[in-house]
Amino acid sequence: MNIQVLGAHNCESQNSKLISLLIDDVLVIDAGGLTSSLSFSAQQKLKAILLTHQHYDHIRDVPTIAMNFAFWGSTINIYSTQPVHDALLTYLLNGKLYPNFLEWPRQKPTIKFTTMEPGKPQQIEGYSILAVLVNHPNLTVGYQVTSPDGKVVFYTSDTGPGLTDCWQKVSPQLLIIEVTLPNEYEEYAKESGHLTPRLLKQELTNFQALKGYLPQVVTVHMSPTLEKEIEAEIASVAKALNNSVTLSYEGMQLHL
Ligand SMILES: [Zn+2]
Ligand SMILES: [Zn+2]
Repeated sequence: MNIQVLGAHNCESQNSKLISLLIDDVLVIDAGGLTSSLSFSAQQKLKAILLTHQHYDHIRDVPTIAMNFAFWGSTINIYSTQPVHDALLTYLLNGKLYPNFLEWPRQKPTIKFTTMEPGKPQQIEGYSILAVLVNHPNLTVGYQVTSPDGKVVFYTSDTGPGLTDCWQKVSPQLLIIEVTLPNEYEEYAKESGHLTPRLLKQELTNFQALKGYLPQVVTVHMSPTLEKEIEAEIASVAKALNNSVTLSYEGMQLHL
């Protein structure tokens, strides 16, 4: 399995893109910096997009990828929960802001949407995909992706602390987990459903106690303007746990 980090952040600028992960050139999880990161020919290879929740930084490029596929006369498969389906139709693809690509063009709609049920694995393009509830507003799921050759990655999406139930359901070799803010913002992180390096350390300690091992850990969704502090604090987490914990960046390639 080859994972390319298209967008590693929660805020966009010339040098930072919104969260989006590409797996083996065909599967995408979250569509923040999706179209802005891929050539048209790379976009045409995509088979499926998995969305974790309805926050704008995770769905921003759904209308733009749909418009491209509409021009090509192709269909793109989108998988997510019912609340994300409803939010897309109500706010973005409502026929006013942009076309309802789930029903247009009428003969062959551009988006084929499939609802994911948390806890029920689905086969998608040869991968086994498990949606797992995490601790973030509006019903948010992380995705465990198991490749045909048995490689396993779990991406938490946005989440606050309290992942014990989640850890019981997953067994990744690679954990891609959010760390949005440095330690000094812990109260705000807890209120808004995010992690700091200190909170990450607690969650990883719980993981190790429950599962008897720690996976390789890569963080995403960092606030770009606070990234230097996050990076220093993550380094001390890695040292304390004696485990690989690194920040991701746009263009990062991960191999399993
Ligand atoms: Zn969010
Ligand atoms: Zn987010």
